[in-house]
Amino acid sequence: MSLTTRTDDGWATTRFVVLGFGTAGYACADSLLQAGADHVTVLDDRDNEALREKAQILETLGATIKLGAGSTAELPADVEVVVTSPGIPPHAPLLATAVERGIPVWSEIELAWRLRDPANAAPWLCITGTNGKTTTVQMLTSILTAAGHRAVAAGNVGLPLLEAVMDPEPYDVIAVELSSYQLHFTDSMSAHSAAVLNIAPDHVDWHGSMDAYTLAKGKIYENCQVACVYNVADPATEQLVQDADVIEGCRAVGFTLGTPAISMVGLVDDLLVDRAFVEQRASSALEIASIADITPPAPHNVANALAAAALARAFGVPASAVRDGLRVFRPDAHRIASVGEVAEVNYIDDSKATNPHAAQASLLAYDHVVWIAGGQAKGATFDELVIAAKDRLRGVVLLGQDKAVIAEALARHAPDVPVITVESTDTGAMETVVGEATKLAQVGDTVLLAPGCASWDMFANYGARGDAFAEAVLRLGDN
Ligand code: ADP
Repeated sequence: MSLTTRTDDGWATTRFVVLGFGTAGYACADSLLQAGADHVTVLDDRDNEALREKAQILETLGATIKLGAGSTAELPADVEVVVTSPGIPPHAPLLATAVERGIPVWSEIELAWRLRDPANAAPWLCITGTNGKTTTVQMLTSILTAAGHRAVAAGNVGLPLLEAVMDPEPYDVIAVELSSYQLHFTDSMSAHSAAVLNIAPDHVDWHGSMDAYTLAKGKIYENCQVACVYNVADPATEQLVQDADVIEGCRAVGFTLGTPAISMVGLVDDLLVDRAFVEQRASSALEIASIADITPPAPHNVANALAAAALARAFGVPASAVRDGLRVFRPDAHRIASVGEVAEVNYIDDSKATNPHAAQASLLAYDHVVWIAGGQAKGATFDELVIAAKDRLRGVVLLGQDKAVIAEALARHAPDVPVITVESTDTGAMETVVGEATKLAQVGDTVLLAPGCASWDMFANYGARGDAFAEAVLRLGDN
């Protein structure tokens, strides 16, 4: 299959199959039709009113949509390209068959890359990592906007990347959040610059192994043009840079919470400094912002700011715009959000900490913490977290399906820390949890909801879990 960009004549005659008819699948099929593809078939095993309505729209535009049980049982014999959705793991039979038959499989990102208007293509500044992606992409967008660029956050956050790419009014630059799922089936992308923030076990089920997950993350650096940004504290990210095939002249740039060596951005006291994108980097560094410009100033969030700054500087953004962009930036809800102070105890909602690596980063930002954790652990273990955070733990309140996994890790490594388990899983459970946490807290402590687990066993999503926490804290204040 030799298709490269949307100006290739082959798009009209090529037989595309789009797998999955969720948000991504719809956007892919729609974009293919807009790009002039005449043979677009969409397959999804689900069937409901909403899907049928969407199907009707695309059928009018010329697509064939097959919904309902058995629709994805077999790959059509004449298919030439499969465009897949992030929910479908590579070991799903249809994808496995496609790979076996040598049929190219594209992610939505691969499709977006190929659909860029070659005459007017915005460069991509790409970010992946186990944790901090959304925050860092938004910080970067804020910085790029402060520098006067028409910039947008797209990909796994905000606008679908296909929409950003197909926008009739072209962007100057796109800050792209990429998940490991999307990267797995992305091969020809060539980012202007790219960062892997960190790598910790997550989504291993989808990828089949930790190695496969790490390799998928590393694909972000392939064909990178200007800077591969890595986390000095996470050697796996630097290794991925070393293993990548990049465009001649592309540089490796580290970010660190320590003093930066040459070709790094880092901290000197409470200042963020650049020793990578300054002429005299052998002998000097440039101040780009201060920790006080970052909200919240938790260490992992300062690391996110440094990564965003490195990408912005690689793109040529002046130091003053880095500072301005960071100053006005506020993270999305449920990411270390302060939800109230009651009786001199601070209550923090970090419901978005859905894996142990994220929860650990959060816990390490506070000296004395009552930790609220639990939910669906997705096969993760909590030993490393407990060992790192045990001296800060005033107590722990556990809820949800996999609370025993966390309780066992606590019993192994922090047997003296009081642990309360809340058995109830109904809507009032969070109120009990907050009540128990409050009993454990002392004046000046932080009660931190950083569950380290997914929320679906008890809540619609992490947002609903955070809202339940905030409401319980509010009621606490009323009493
Ligand atoms: P993602 O998009 O990767 O899920 P978010 O920016 O939404 O990342 O942050 C998710 C959670 O991850 C936050 O609530 C916080 O607990 C944690 N987190 C954020 N940045 C980092 C980081 N650099 N290292 C570890 N954990 C982090």
